Amino acid sequence: LFAADCAFMWGTAKVAELPPPGAPEIAFAGRSNVGKSSLLNALTNRKGLARASNTPGRTRELNFFALGGPAETAKLRLVDMPGYGYAAASKEKIANWTDLMRDFLRGRAQLLRVFVLVDGRHGVKPIDLEMFDLLDRAAMSYQIVLTKQDEVKKSDQDQRIAETLGALQRRPAAFPEVLFTSSQSGEGVGALRAGIARLLAE
Ligand code: GDP
Repeated sequence: LFAADCAFMWGTAKVAELPPPGAPEIAFAGRSNVGKSSLLNALTNRKGLARASNTPGRTRELNFFALGGPAETAKLRLVDMPGYGYAAASKEKIANWTDLMRDFLRGRAQLLRVFVLVDGRHGVKPIDLEMFDLLDRAAMSYQIVLTKQDEVKKSDQDQRIAETLGALQRRPAAFPEVLFTSSQSGEGVGALRAGIARLLAE
């Protein structure tokens, strides 16, 4: 699946302009700078797929990518959700973001899971908990993916996973398995691909 073609399909910040249902979808969320663009590139083996940007919060759109065929016949769609937690964002922008997320997550039947990326060096932050709340309220299945594993000491990695699992207790929509990935070394990217393949096979 991930060796197949992957192409940008559609981008929008308006719920009324979301692409109509077609292939199953999985989405990727996370704080600005968490490494989401880099992980999407690593996942799909496409260097420029989600332009790895050092400008936090540049994209305010839901960006759709078709995997394994053109948009109409794709096997899977990847949805790059706009990053959150950009310190300089205005109240209005945050409200717009929250509305877009809420409307997208509700009633998107083909959306199988949201992978929420959390910086492995810092662990879960209050802003991430707000994202988890949103997903729990929408009853949308989500799984945490810790990023930048190459920058976390081996001895700290298990601890970071345990803390993260702790933050997921009593969260009804959270998938109780945490992945640790590095786009730099490729660590954990195969496990993420396997998890996605299992979701599609269900
Ligand atoms: P985004 O804003 O979430 O899309 O984050 P980016 O993918 O643009 O990455 C933000 C910063 O983190 C960049 O400076 C990347 O080089 C760096 N980064 C991303 N992934 C990794 C990783 O796996 N390891 C390390 N060490 N740095 C990473």
